[in-house]
Amino acid sequence: MKGLVVVFGLAAMVTLSGGVAAEPLFLGAELTPRDAVVLFDGKDLSQWVKCGTDQPAGWKVENGYTQVVPGTGDICTKRSFSDCQLHIEFRVPLMPEARGQARGNSGVFFMGWTYEIQVLDSYGLQPGNGDCGAIYSITPPMVNAARPPEQWQTFDMVFHAPKFDDKGKKTANARITVLWNGVLIHDDAQIPSPTPDHSAAEPTGPGPIELQDHGYLVRYRNMWVRPL
Ligand code: MG
Repeated sequence: MKGLVVVFGLAAMVTLSGGVAAEPLFLGAELTPRDAVVLFDGKDLSQWVKCGTDQPAGWKVENGYTQVVPGTGDICTKRSFSDCQLHIEFRVPLMPEARGQARGNSGVFFMGWTYEIQVLDSYGLQPGNGDCGAIYSITPPMVNAARPPEQWQTFDMVFHAPKFDDKGKKTANARITVLWNGVLIHDDAQIPSPTPDHSAAEPTGPGPIELQDHGYLVRYRNMWVRPL
């Protein structure tokens, strides 16, 4: 009995730690943790460019959001990321006459134009691999967690870049976990190839977060990323 008490006491000494002062991630009720890189705070697109250029992003900013200006092109973060946690809020327009891929299409891409999580109005549909929340053209969301169009929605994602050996041979696929409006829709899912072109080469280094101008009036707000 005495021996048991000693063993238990040692285990407690080994496993318990903490109580040392450290910088808190939150100071109060704010939504963005202090270690995040803020990509868009509602005021300007200073963290973004027109993809593939050093020109300013052409989307408009008003009332705390940015909205696609059709024809101005995709926008890309100035900074590059590989493994990261991304929070993004989006709003698709109401387009009652439109069908399928024409209902407010956009998309959130990792590592440049490589791995897309689809943005679309798919409200009330059985989700396919082209619908909102899909790993585009590869994996539908596990469940359709869409809110109706013209409602703000959230994606919280954990992305892991593919891994390569020193000869450039891929040793691990890209992976992603996605919560859509707080609902789990991808659980550490494999992304075996780029989503726009399954035979395209995969990036071996970091790349920008990219938002798609697919010609529709999709809005984004409150975007931040934490490199992992
Ligand atoms: Mg898209």
